[in-house]
Amino acid sequence: MAELASYAVSEHNSRGRKIAEDAPQGRSEFQRDRDRIIHSGAFRRLEYKTQVFVNHEGDLFRTRLTHSIEVAQIARSIARCLHLNEDLAEAISLAHDLGHTPFGHAGQEALNACMKDYGGFEHNLQSLRVVDLLEERYAAFDGLNLCFETREGILKHCSAVNAKQLGDLGERFLNNRRPSLEAQIANLADEIAYNNHDVDDGLRSGLITLEQLASVPLAATHLHEVRHAYPDLQERRMVHETVRRMINTLVTDLIQQSERNISAQGIATIEDVRSAPAMIAYSTGMDELQRELKNFLRIHLYRHYRVLRMSAKAQRVISDLFGIFMADSRLLPPQFQSLAEHDRARAIADYIAGMTDRYAIREHRRIFAMEEVTN
Ligand code: MG
Repeated sequence: MAELASYAVSEHNSRGRKIAEDAPQGRSEFQRDRDRIIHSGAFRRLEYKTQVFVNHEGDLFRTRLTHSIEVAQIARSIARCLHLNEDLAEAISLAHDLGHTPFGHAGQEALNACMKDYGGFEHNLQSLRVVDLLEERYAAFDGLNLCFETREGILKHCSAVNAKQLGDLGERFLNNRRPSLEAQIANLADEIAYNNHDVDDGLRSGLITLEQLASVPLAATHLHEVRHAYPDLQERRMVHETVRRMINTLVTDLIQQSERNISAQGIATIEDVRSAPAMIAYSTGMDELQRELKNFLRIHLYRHYRVLRMSAKAQRVISDLFGIFMADSRLLPPQFQSLAEHDRARAIADYIAGMTDRYAIREHRRIFAMEEVTN
């Protein structure tokens, strides 16, 4: 790795792990975090969790796993250009959705509604819970015992109530301070990845059309360029060529504007990063363009009646499961029954949040279907 900027997170300025461990051999602390995340059970389950399209709707749609890999790719590129810690940006990106429920956004909303009287459900906080507590892989501790900066990056948002209970990790939400630049990068790489792959998946599914997309300025510019340069190009390639150019434009703008921000603010140390406003940002013009793209997706894809039908089904599955387990915790698998003795609602939320889409559907069938269920 090239030399890091003085304001990058490094092993020298890291706040370290909750439980002290010997330094890793042949890899950095943040490589070790990344490796622990990849070997976790929660990471493998991302393969069968919805991004927008439910897994069985098609093999080529993004899942939370491929989404997380795309986020990591974008985050690494940006981090490298800015001489920041690539391994940390990658670790945060790969872990950012570990706590996501099945069925994407709809699942998260449903579980949050179920948990309304029991402290709520926030998927960022759940991702942290996975790496701090729920993974059972090490003899010496619960969770993955990741470095402070990785955990800080995973906790993108947090309510004030929850922040108060999180000690050092919650402080920045209460004192209006910023996380590392690597965390800021992972956050924006997440948006770049999903805005663009949702365009691609939306077009593939036929829920949005190229003509509709041409009403979005950021897409229109590139679509026009591609059509002009390659008038006979088949539509699939046209889409990929357009999406790839959009990603490149967003990433390039983000790098250039962030460099300007860092130098204008005179950022020299990680402490400067934490007390300054967010440094990783688009130029004003690009910020407006990417908002328009987001808005387009919200109206035309996320609120499409076919997506909403799937969401309604997903909400039904989650609230049915939550309701029946709350009514009778003896229906839970044994390991969750013992957790439920302590805090029934939280144990059920942990169980449901850990489910893949298809596991949730099967579990629903096993409990509610009267006909014989063979799987
Ligand atoms: Mg994400």
